[in-house]
Amino acid sequence: MLTLASGLALSSVAAGSVATECSSKGFWSWLTGSNSEPAADPSAWTPGVKRRPVKKNFISGGRKAQRGLILHVQEGQGSLFEWFSNPSAKVSAHFWVSQTGEIEQYVSAHDQAWAQRDGNAEWASVETSGFAAQPLTPAQVEAVARIYQWGAREHGWALKLADHPQDTGLGTHAMGGSGWGLHECPGPSRSAQREAIMARVLADRHSGES
Ligand SMILES: [Zn+2]
Repeated sequence: MLTLASGLALSSVAAGSVATECSSKGFWSWLTGSNSEPAADPSAWTPGVKRRPVKKNFISGGRKAQRGLILHVQEGQGSLFEWFSNPSAKVSAHFWVSQTGEIEQYVSAHDQAWAQRDGNAEWASVETSGFAAQPLTPAQVEAVARIYQWGAREHGWALKLADHPQDTGLGTHAMGGSGWGLHECPGPSRSAQREAIMARVLADRHSGES
């Protein structure tokens, strides 16, 4: 779940509208999206990840820190590209991970996505498809670990979990409290799965895989 720049919860704005719901439309545009763009700065755009830059709903530059990655739950399914491209959305995330482990990147790591208000300048963000009541799929755990490995390599993200906004590591939207919009996101189940994600990051690191 994402927090509007104004502080309103996306879900409250979107209730009864198309906002959070995904969308077969988003899915089809993902299927037919172009993947033939030239290589980008690998510290900005994760190599091997589907790059779909949004034109709206982020702040160019202005990152004050690279504290790590914040885990979110979509409360919906399907690519968020169309929604994050909508000028009325006022929300975005750096990454989105499907339930089968596909990754899309919408915002450069050097820019501020609009995912957790006061945390936007210091944290990267990943939306995970599905609902808080469902755990992340094994493929999602793997995909988030892959993003994290990249951040650790390119930006020095700490190889540990984060528990508050001044911490470093793999954190949750909920840890930001009122300054981050007072969300439960991504819920207890997915929050607890950060252990499995970090274990995966560390296992690959120890095996020498990048
Ligand atoms: Zn969230």
